[in-house]
Amino acid sequence: MVELKNVDVHYKEGGVDALNDVSLRINDGEFVFIVGSSGAGKSTLLKLLTREKTPTNGRVFVNGYNLSNLKNRKIPYFRRSMGMIFQDFRLIPNLTVYENVAFVLRVTDRSSRYIRQRVPYVLNLVKLNDKARAYPSQLSGGEQQRVAIARAFAPDPGLIIADEPTGNIDPELSYEIVEILKDINKCGTTVLMVTHEHDLVKYFGGRIISLKKGNVDFDDYIGGDGDSE
Ligand code: ADP
Repeated sequence: MVELKNVDVHYKEGGVDALNDVSLRINDGEFVFIVGSSGAGKSTLLKLLTREKTPTNGRVFVNGYNLSNLKNRKIPYFRRSMGMIFQDFRLIPNLTVYENVAFVLRVTDRSSRYIRQRVPYVLNLVKLNDKARAYPSQLSGGEQQRVAIARAFAPDPGLIIADEPTGNIDPELSYEIVEILKDINKCGTTVLMVTHEHDLVKYFGGRIISLKKGNVDFDDYIGGDGDSE
């Protein structure tokens, strides 16, 4: 669950109110698109959710953690409750696809047996089983992003945050990326996806939260044009 209660974020430099009295709630298992033009406050919202920033006023709750009083030493544990996907993939270049995914499980002390089962399962989910031995440089952008999705999902987090995940991908392959995120969402993981791509949002529909100048301008469900079900 993600909840913001009356959140303001004020940047002293420039005197900018990046978010003004924002309240919203996203329940477990939802898939939400977050949209808004440049400067609307999307990055600031994500930074609150990952606890890179704390609000000037108001409270933020994520995955059962009250981020207002989360101790610094607990932040790494909190971050393990979420998976992140970025526009620029952020794979480890000298590790194979398999090892990129296994790596996140090793650093969180999963057993070798679990890793041997889990990595092929998540690679299958993103349809990349046949690329397990490839290195990131040998993959297309769309394939690299699918590895990044597999890696984010491997530890089975309650929440996945995708920050412009289709930003560096050919437009026709963007749909496939969202389809995969939808499949992951069907496994029960909450997915928040920030995007600029109106065509994608129109095609898939669902809950849309639109930010405008630091305010929630629209928060509702729209029907999708595409045949996504
Ligand atoms: P978006 O991600 O939607 O483009 P941001 O959250 O990055 O929006 O920015 C919201 C507002 O806050 C903008 O006016 C931006 O200039 C300002 N802002 C963002 N980060 C900082 C910062 N570190 N210092 C000062 N102002 C900032």
